[in-house]
Amino acid sequence: MAAHEDRRGFLRLALGTACASAACTGLGGLTRSAFAQSGSGPIAALALRDGLTQITGAGGNVLLLQGTGGTVLVDSGSPENAAGLIGRVTAMLGDAPVDVLFNTHWHTAHTGANETFGRQGAKIVAHENTRLWMSTEYYVDWQDRTYEPRPAAALPTETFFSSDPQPIALDLGDERIEYGHLREAHTDGDIYVFFLKRNVIATGGAVSAGAYPVLDYATGGWIGGLMDATQKLIDMSDSDTIIVPGAGPAQSRDHLEEQVEMISTVRERVATLMRQGKSVEEMVAAGVTAEFDAAWGHNRDRFIANVYGGLWWQGRLDGSL
Ligand SMILES: [Zn+2]
Repeated sequence: MAAHEDRRGFLRLALGTACASAACTGLGGLTRSAFAQSGSGPIAALALRDGLTQITGAGGNVLLLQGTGGTVLVDSGSPENAAGLIGRVTAMLGDAPVDVLFNTHWHTAHTGANETFGRQGAKIVAHENTRLWMSTEYYVDWQDRTYEPRPAAALPTETFFSSDPQPIALDLGDERIEYGHLREAHTDGDIYVFFLKRNVIATGGAVSAGAYPVLDYATGGWIGGLMDATQKLIDMSDSDTIIVPGAGPAQSRDHLEEQVEMISTVRERVATLMRQGKSVEEMVAAGVTAEFDAAWGHNRDRFIANVYGGLWWQGRLDGSL
């Protein structure tokens, strides 16, 4: 899809800087090789902790847990990388099936191989909003793209609707997985998946690395929700937690702090200029992201436009700060 074609583009630019920051240090048991880039390209499997693997190159990041109680995937890559991802997963699992597939959100870079894993019997877990987006035709204006309903086998089979701060727990052998809603952040159906004993959190698009976050306001994302989501992830993690973003290299909790600082600063500046009637182009020219551009990548203009769009579309400017 266009958003993630953009994302892959800027991730390619981010290559080589994946481990340039302090965010890549201080995680016990990890080697620097675990912080490789995801996106398109050769599919690679990078061991994180104790049978939990980050698969890169399939579109969005994919996590595979080979635990004593079953096999779990988080996200299923892009449609164009489905065959490669399925081949890699099959090579790792042999005859063992994927028992549970989590979708962190609806974007096709994260649900591309759903149909295959669904037909093979995987339980597909997601937020109900993700199932709804995948079930219907809709138009995403900032991409100028219409999405068609996905095949029935690709749809989540087990969804939840609550934004209750209390996570949902799934005990699988040697792992306890907790997951829950990150309300209206990157989309309106974002979830985190926390492998509690391994201390690894898959965040989906609510966390971005090497690029500005994508705020898909057409399906319910906005900057205030992204700030709340990031804070929620900070609150549940510690200094040893591995944070796996929707795309890009794994991070430490420090990166979440940096994301909160960036989005709260940019949100305030954009909102101030919106109240003065300024356009997105004028905000870009005013340098509302200036000190963050080096670390967050080249999708600046799209980011500013979507911060604006999310505040404008959903009537959240007044009283939102
Ligand atoms: Zn996404």
